[in-house]
Amino acid sequence: MKTIGSNAQRVVVVGAGLAGLSAALHLAGRGREVTVIERAPHPGGRVGRLDIDGYLLDTGPTVLTMPDLIDDAFAAVGESLSDRLDLMRVDPAYHASFADGSSLNVHSDREAMAAEIERFAGRGQADGYLQLRDWLTRLYDVEFDGFIAANFDSPLSLLTPALARLTAIGGFRRWDRMVRKFISDERLQRVFTFQALYAGVPPQRALAVYAVIAYMDTISGVFFPRGGMRALPDALAAAAAGAGVQFRYSAAVSALERSGSEVTAVRTSTGERVPADAVVLTTELPETYRLLGREPRRLLRLRPAPSAVVAHVGCQAVDPDVGHHTILFGQAWQQTFRDIIDDGKVMTDPSLLVTRPSAGDAGLAPAGRDLLYILAPAPNTAVGNVDWAATGPAYTDSILRAVQNRMPSLGRDAELLHVVDPADWARQGMLAGTPFALAHTFGQTGPFRPANTVRGVDNAVLAGSSTVPGVGVPTALMSGRLAADRITGAVTKRRQLRVVQP
Ligand SMILES: Cc1cc2nc3c(=O)[nH]c(=O)nc-3n(C[C@H](O)[C@H](O)[C@H](O)COP(=O)(O)OP(=O)(O)OC[C@H]3O[C@@H](n4cnc5c(N)ncnc54)[C@H](O)[C@@H]3O)c2cc1C
Repeated sequence: MKTIGSNAQRVVVVGAGLAGLSAALHLAGRGREVTVIERAPHPGGRVGRLDIDGYLLDTGPTVLTMPDLIDDAFAAVGESLSDRLDLMRVDPAYHASFADGSSLNVHSDREAMAAEIERFAGRGQADGYLQLRDWLTRLYDVEFDGFIAANFDSPLSLLTPALARLTAIGGFRRWDRMVRKFISDERLQRVFTFQALYAGVPPQRALAVYAVIAYMDTISGVFFPRGGMRALPDALAAAAAGAGVQFRYSAAVSALERSGSEVTAVRTSTGERVPADAVVLTTELPETYRLLGREPRRLLRLRPAPSAVVAHVGCQAVDPDVGHHTILFGQAWQQTFRDIIDDGKVMTDPSLLVTRPSAGDAGLAPAGRDLLYILAPAPNTAVGNVDWAATGPAYTDSILRAVQNRMPSLGRDAELLHVVDPADWARQGMLAGTPFALAHTFGQTGPFRPANTVRGVDNAVLAGSSTVPGVGVPTALMSGRLAADRITGAVTKRRQLRVVQP
C-alpha cells in the first residue's frame, strides 16, 4: 500500500463528519498531532441535527449498522463504545409493510427470522432464507478485509485470492438474481434487495457484492443511540478531544497553502493559518477539487446517487406497536427505481422509510408526542428536472397522505416540522443535490472509485463518501481509518469484525 511517505506529525483534518472524526481518532491514537477544522458549529456533518419546538431532529442517517466499526474508532484512542454511547439494538430491525396488506418483521436473530418468514410465506421460503443468510455471511467474510477495509493502489491490487473467492460465490453477478436463487416470494426478495437504493443502483443492475449491505442490516443488525443519532458524532468528538485532538468549529477551510507538491498549511475563513505536514480532506468532491486547485475533468463523468426528500413530523403519541423503522413498499417496484434513477421523476407509487426515533428514545419529542422521519427516495438534480420550489410542498403532502393511508395510527394532530428536498441538498453544496455522493456502479467501486490519494499532491489524503469505500455510516468510519493508514501505514492486522448475535 502506498503511503504519503513522510513522517507527517501535524495532520489537519478538514471536516468533522464521521469520516473526519474517524480519521482524527485513528491518527491521534498513532501519536499524531491532529487539528480538525469544521465549518459548522458542531460535529456530525450529514449526521445533522435540528431542534424545533422541543423536538430533537436527526436530519441524516437513521439506520445505524456495524457498531464494531464505531468501537474500532474509539479503541484507536484506548476507549470503548460502551463508555461513550448507550447503544440499543433495534428489534425488529424493520417492519416491512406491503401494498397487499401483508407485513413482516425483520429480525436479525436467525431462528426468530426463520419463524417469521415461515409464518409469512411458508416453510420453503424460510429454508431459502437460511441458505441466503449463509451466503450473505460468506459474502461479508470474503469482502470485508479484502475489499471494504482495503486501500487500493490500482485496479491490479484487486487481483488477490479473495477476488477469486468472491467471484466463485457470485459476487460479480447481479444482486437480485443471487437473492432469487434462494427465495421466490417477490415481497421477501424486496426485503433483501431494497438496500440497493442505498448503493444508488437498481437491484437488477447492482453487483451482488453490494448485497453485503443486506448482511449489515438484516443479519448483523440495526442499532440506535440514546439521545438520537447526533449522540454518535458527539461521542466520537469527545473521545478525540480527550485524546488531544484540537477542534476549530465555525471555521471553513478557505485555502490550502502549497510548496511544490506539498500542502504546508491550511487557511480558514476565521483568518487562522494552521501549519500541516499532511491534510485529510473529507469535503464533497467539488470542494475538494477547489481546495486542491484542480480541474475536475472526471467530475463531469461521475454518476451521482439518487437523492431523497426527508420530512420530519411531530404528532400525538402513536400506537406503541409502531416500531422504530417501517418500510412501506408500494405496489410498483422496478418502476420505482426507473422513476428516480433513469427517468428523473418522483416515484409514481412511492416506497417510503418511516422512522420513529421517539420509539427508541421518548426524550426526542415533547411529552405525549412522537417524532417521525419520512424518507422518500427522489431523483438527484443531475438526472431529474423537478422544480422543487414549485412542486415540493404538494409532493410532501402526497407523501404524508400515503403514510397516513397505510398507517392510520400515525399522524393524529400532525405538524410538519421540517422538510429537505434535493434542491436543499444542492444549496448545502452537495454534488447533484444528493447527500448520498456517488452511486456504487461497477465503475465507481473499489479501485475505480475516486481514490483517496491525490496525484501531484504528495501529502493530501481524501476520506468520506465520495472516495473509498463509499457512502454510509460504516463506510465513512472506514474511510477515515483508510486515510489514516495512508498517512502512517497500516498499524496492525485488523481483527475480524463481526457483530455477535445476543
Ligand atoms: C438524509 C440522509 C439519510 C441517510 N441515511 C443513512 C442511513 O440510514 N444509514 C447510513 O449508514 N448512512 C446514511 N446516510 C449517509 C451517511 O450519513 C453519510 O454517508 C456519512 O455521514 C458521510 O460522512 P462524511 O464524513 O463522509 O461526510 P459529511 O458528514 O458530509 O462530513 C463532511 C464535513 O466537512 C465539513 N466541511 C465541508 N467543507 C468544509 C470546509 N471547506 N471547511 C471546513 N469544513 C468543511 C462539512 O460541514 C461536514 O461536517 C444518510 C445521509 C443522509 C443525508
